Amino acid sequence: MEQKMTTYKTSMIEHEGTHYALVRLANGEKRLLVEGETAVFRGDLQNGKLLCPLTPENAVALRGRLPWLIPTPLGLLTSFGFGDRIGLATPGHIAALDIVEGHIAPIFAQQSVRENTRIGRTPQQVMDDAMWGIFETGWRGSWGADADHIKEIAHVAPFVQAGYTFYTIDPSDHVDNEAQTDDLQTLRQKTAVLPWSQLATTLDELLATYCTAPIALHGLTLHFTEEVLLRALAKYGHALAHTLTITAEIRQQLTGRPFDLEMSVDETDTPTSAEEHFFIAQELLKRDVPVVSLAPRFVGKFQKGVDYMGDLAEFEAELAKHAAIMHHFDAYKLSIHTGSDKFSIYRVINRYANGRVHVKTAGTSYLEALRVISQVDAPLFRQILDLGHERFEKDRKTYFLDCRPQNVPTSAQLSNEALPDLLDDFDARQLLHVTFGSALDEYGDNLKADLSNNEAAYVAALIAHFVRHLQPFC
Ligand SMILES: [Zn+2]
Repeated sequence: MEQKMTTYKTSMIEHEGTHYALVRLANGEKRLLVEGETAVFRGDLQNGKLLCPLTPENAVALRGRLPWLIPTPLGLLTSFGFGDRIGLATPGHIAALDIVEGHIAPIFAQQSVRENTRIGRTPQQVMDDAMWGIFETGWRGSWGADADHIKEIAHVAPFVQAGYTFYTIDPSDHVDNEAQTDDLQTLRQKTAVLPWSQLATTLDELLATYCTAPIALHGLTLHFTEEVLLRALAKYGHALAHTLTITAEIRQQLTGRPFDLEMSVDETDTPTSAEEHFFIAQELLKRDVPVVSLAPRFVGKFQKGVDYMGDLAEFEAELAKHAAIMHHFDAYKLSIHTGSDKFSIYRVINRYANGRVHVKTAGTSYLEALRVISQVDAPLFRQILDLGHERFEKDRKTYFLDCRPQNVPTSAQLSNEALPDLLDDFDARQLLHVTFGSALDEYGDNLKADLSNNEAAYVAALIAHFVRHLQPFC
């Protein structure tokens, strides 16, 4: 039977004699249309064209034909990570990028191991969803795919198999937060039992490197006393060793293919000091860890879905030091994790980083999806809000939040007209943000159906939101 369909005009492409396009059926489902060399695709023939479901197999076939649908390493380019928990946001992300016309290299496929676990998505699904979005819009620029917050060796393989190009190692489970306040004797005990053979150095060697004289960088002088060095070592020594282990694993599995590497210590209890940043960077680079991006834990609060909280002058003073260290090594960029909605600090970050920056966002695109839902499907939004209240205490674990759930109204207290305002409210944003796993589990299908029926509204919401994120870096 012949299907009625509309074509996404931006997707239409002729490549090496074969025509490709993305179409939408009357029921809202999307199909890949191929005319010409169709042998590697699976679908139904209709008027000489093959109508293919968006399966993983057809995604592989399409990547084999259109090489720009394969992610690549982005190196030191100014870059921006767009997480997409639902898998429908890429067209909106691309529309925002098109508007700012800046030289920002995007990461479209990016989801942390933690988020994948909560939602039950695989790295391959995240990759394929981003790819279909790219195909839909006709985007032809370079883009990356971030295997975010890899904590263990076992996390690596599914990302390698799915073709990820950017690997974020998060060794925070191996950071000793108590070392921040340990006395000298305890620091000596802790550093005595570090995995020295794996680190391939000695304490004497490190004392000679760091403590003989002040280390003068452009615009910054670092003073390592024995205590400062021991504290850095005790805090990050095991994390360094763990990073070496995972890097070796990634290298081995990628068998020579190029990749971007990030090390993130953003989810630690205390801010990363200038000396600690310098120490980590130097020790990684000395060991040939090809880190192109490093995420320190900055001073102040970086929380999900809301602006920076803290003293702006203090943030700027600390940022200046981190940027000076980053420019000194000239090998990696500063990475800003939980980077969404930090409107009060983007300009100062860009001024100091001078293009050497990666901003990582994740759940903020989900909140924009909820903004659309609050406007087009009040009953569903009410269900998601009330479920958020119910699940907040459980779901908030593993997140740093100041959210006061008692300040968020329940759906019974709100008129339909008032629902969208919650997306501009601090407490409501955090409550909705961290209960995404519960919401998608319970209402994911309805949510996706609403977004699919209101594609233009979702794109418009993402444009309005992300242009504000991207502009300061253009
Ligand atoms: Zn992070």
